[in-house]
Amino acid sequence: MNKSTITFFERKFPSANMILIKDQLPILVDSGFGSDVKDTEQLITNAGVLPKELHLIVNTHYHSDHVGGNFHLQKNYSLPIAAHKWEANLINVGDAEACSAEWLDQPVEPYSVDKMLSDNDEIDTGSGVLQVFHTPGHTLGHISLYEPAKELLICGDLFHKNDIGWLNIFREGVNAIQRSIESLEKLAKLRIQTAYPGHGPQIENPLDTIDMARKRLEKWIGNPEKVSWHACKRIFSFTLIINNGLAREEIDNYLLKCGWFQDFARYAFQTPPKDFVQILLDEMIRSGAASWHNNCLIATTPYQAPEQQWLKNNIKPRDWKTQNLLI
Ligand SMILES: [Zn+2]
Ligand SMILES: [Zn+2]
Repeated sequence: MNKSTITFFERKFPSANMILIKDQLPILVDSGFGSDVKDTEQLITNAGVLPKELHLIVNTHYHSDHVGGNFHLQKNYSLPIAAHKWEANLINVGDAEACSAEWLDQPVEPYSVDKMLSDNDEIDTGSGVLQVFHTPGHTLGHISLYEPAKELLICGDLFHKNDIGWLNIFREGVNAIQRSIESLEKLAKLRIQTAYPGHGPQIENPLDTIDMARKRLEKWIGNPEKVSWHACKRIFSFTLIINNGLAREEIDNYLLKCGWFQDFARYAFQTPPKDFVQILLDEMIRSGAASWHNNCLIATTPYQAPEQQWLKNNIKPRDWKTQNLLI
């Protein structure tokens, strides 16, 4: 008999949501942003599982908001981590592209993946299983997890209640749109009562949400500018969140150093990057994604600013090897 219980933690940015499966072999899905690790531990402890009692951490994908707690949890409690094999390989060699951390300019402390996952694998929770579905699109190694007895889906950043995961068409090709559509179609065949996304609230009518996400992506196929605006705004909002806002005079220098900004300006909008700064700022204000407070541009979505000392370390996968941080 399936005796597992599932707790969904809806978290503020910069941390992604987490899901705790309480069973004989307790499993945590995603581990939040690195600066929030104390809260991460507190949340699961309050839900009745001590971090050291976890059997496994599973990552839906390797973005910093989903894997940031891995370092601390693995180092302090020797917890094993599972992820899709393609992302696991990049992590385990400390590839500079891992987590898209360089391109996005997002810090991620080192961890290693112990269990490589593939499509159709099953993860034992004790009295039940989680089925692994490879659902690429948002990242190439993105996975979703399905609990068949309870008809629950954990969908990471494939889709959210009122949004879809942004697509990295420069690093992953314009086919990322098609891959996302196919991933949604794969999940639409399941019986799902509730979906737990990586951001925002749980979804009670997930098949409708999946259908809406698919339609939105289909509209994007002939309109790559839309995909690019969506991604630019999400990435820049996250930047503003982790920096707790940027002063007007630092924005140009900051953006012009960023891989994502350069790529979108040049290739999506055919605009010299220095001319794209004001265009992006205008769109952030127009869409309500950010607003000016005195001289500082602040993200409007609710967030918890990272501790500045943590942020200063600014560790990325390319440092893992040179600083002997590989685990
Ligand atoms: Zn996310
Ligand atoms: Zn993501």
